[in-house]
Amino acid sequence: MYTHVYSINDPMARAEAGRVILNGGLVAFATETVYGLGGDATNEMAVAKIFAYKARPLYNPLISHVHDARSAFAIGQATSAALAMADVFWPGPLTLVMKLMDGFPLACLTSANMDTVAIRVPGDPTTRALLSEIGRPIAAPSANRSGRLSPTTADHVIAEGFDGLKIILDGGCCMLGVESTVLDVSSGIPRLLRPGAVTQEQIEEVVGPIKLASDNARLLSPGMLASHYAPIASLRLNATELWDGEVGLDFAGQLGADMDLSSLGDLLEAASNLFAYLRTLDLPGIKTIAVAPIPRRGLGVAINDRLQRAAV
Ligand code: AMP
Ligand code: MG
Repeated sequence: MYTHVYSINDPMARAEAGRVILNGGLVAFATETVYGLGGDATNEMAVAKIFAYKARPLYNPLISHVHDARSAFAIGQATSAALAMADVFWPGPLTLVMKLMDGFPLACLTSANMDTVAIRVPGDPTTRALLSEIGRPIAAPSANRSGRLSPTTADHVIAEGFDGLKIILDGGCCMLGVESTVLDVSSGIPRLLRPGAVTQEQIEEVVGPIKLASDNARLLSPGMLASHYAPIASLRLNATELWDGEVGLDFAGQLGADMDLSSLGDLLEAASNLFAYLRTLDLPGIKTIAVAPIPRRGLGVAINDRLQRAAV
């Protein structure tokens, strides 16, 4: 079946997408982080379709997207840390893990049958317009098959070849280009489960010292599998020179390679280019992509995290 690509700015297209989702179908849509593959988070069958499309393991729960904090706290139980974080960072690239509100009809598959739920209010106003029209939480992981690079353009979504996907709401290139920060605020001291655009320093300014995802993170957050976002070529990280037969993925001109995530060394620009450039370099016949060192500060922590997972 043919996939229609509409602008996410078009209210008619959003209305049609909303109808598809309320009828249990799936829609891919732009957010400021990466493109999501969305379905009604309260509809078990719709969520099952998401897992099937992505071939995603059922133990890996999905993030539910809502248009404002009020809707979020109707689904997840607000702790003081949750309220403080929401106040500063929503709408935006931050996902909060909270205890599921008693009686909220979230599909069991959405939260992988756990008693917690991951919720985000996306930063992009057109994404929020879509969510507010639907009026239900939308479960939306990245619109790629499990274990592959996250899509940051509508073309990347098309390239995944999801059979039967009717609609993609196109918002151009994603502004941020890496997935949201995931912070567990369900009880006690908040724990960072996945680094993202909202950095540890920014979080700690709001809630004080936090815990970091440790080696047992995959138990706390099943999605933190070591191997993720893997391109087909292998990656050699922190390369300071190009070796024979390699192609380079540069940062700030360190390798003198053509593909530079940001020639000016801007981490925001580098994050937004990361997945698209990895895709471009991941060609048949290319065995190794040598990646220049990227500073481990600010957004650089999230970039290094994604590169590490892609390199496994
Ligand atoms: P993705 O949808 O691929 O961006 O991944 C969502 C991330 O959030 C994964 O790392 C999940 O394991 C994590 N996540 C979602 N729900 C929960 C939850 N209830 N508890 C802990 N981590 C969660
Ligand atoms: Mg993903």
